[in-house]
Amino acid sequence: MSHTAIVTGGTRGIGAAISMALSEDGHKVAATYAGNDEAAEAFKTQTGISVYRFDVADFDQCADSVSRIETDLGAVGILVNNAGITRDGTLHRMDFEQWNAVLQTNLSSCYNMCRNVIDGMRERGFGRIVNIGSVNGQAGQYGQVNYAAAKSGIHGFTKALALEGAAKGVTVNAIAPGYVDTDMVRAVPEKVLEKIIATIPVGRLGYASDIARAVQFLVADDATFITGSTLSINGGQHMY
Ligand code: NDP
Repeated sequence: MSHTAIVTGGTRGIGAAISMALSEDGHKVAATYAGNDEAAEAFKTQTGISVYRFDVADFDQCADSVSRIETDLGAVGILVNNAGITRDGTLHRMDFEQWNAVLQTNLSSCYNMCRNVIDGMRERGFGRIVNIGSVNGQAGQYGQVNYAAAKSGIHGFTKALALEGAAKGVTVNAIAPGYVDTDMVRAVPEKVLEKIIATIPVGRLGYASDIARAVQFLVADDATFITGSTLSINGGQHMY
């Protein structure tokens, strides 16, 4: 069945691949973004997918935008909380802005978005929420106490909301990607990246499409018994 799907950060990188995959599956997709209008317009032109600009760290903007998307495309059945940023630095050099920006954008965003779709999903007895975590939320990473804390928080958020939605037809799952070839990872210095790739048994970075295919699986109408899970997709880099 076709649903309205919101993919936050859906105009670039992993989110763009998710938006395109869900659109190919027949869903009406709203791809959201923060401020890179050029990338968003190019994505819209290339795919025909609707784009919406707002800050996922701001509750009121999320409320207004969900309402606008529902007017344009219909009640939201699928939400993929994918938008995320890094502001790396060791804790002894990290200022509050670096900490707070990552916590607000990567973790509070899950509250901001879920809170604005959950009532409707519960009332209609159908919802699919997928939160994008990270291998670094599972394993920790040097220079990323902010990012690891936010991503680790996503995994707890997912399990708690899964319990709340289970009897109402709302499934909530997380994906923990390893290193995926996007702008975020291309910003890592080449020498550091080489070392990272050497720790990936599959011997390469992930493709954004490796993550998108898992989202397609988790949001399917008949994926009714998969909830509260975290799917690790990392080329074998971290198993537990
Ligand atoms: P990119 O940097 O390539 O894209 C990020 C997207 O999020 C963009 O569309 C961006 O919008 C949007 N965004 C950022 N901040 C906000 C905000 N405050 N409000 C709304 N939208 C925002 O990221 P990736 O594709 O690499 O990562 C996607 C997700 O996957 C993130 O949560 C990331 O933490 C996670 N992840 C990524 C990994 C990787 O190796 N790439 C590994 C593990 C997890 P705009 O274009 O306007 O800037």
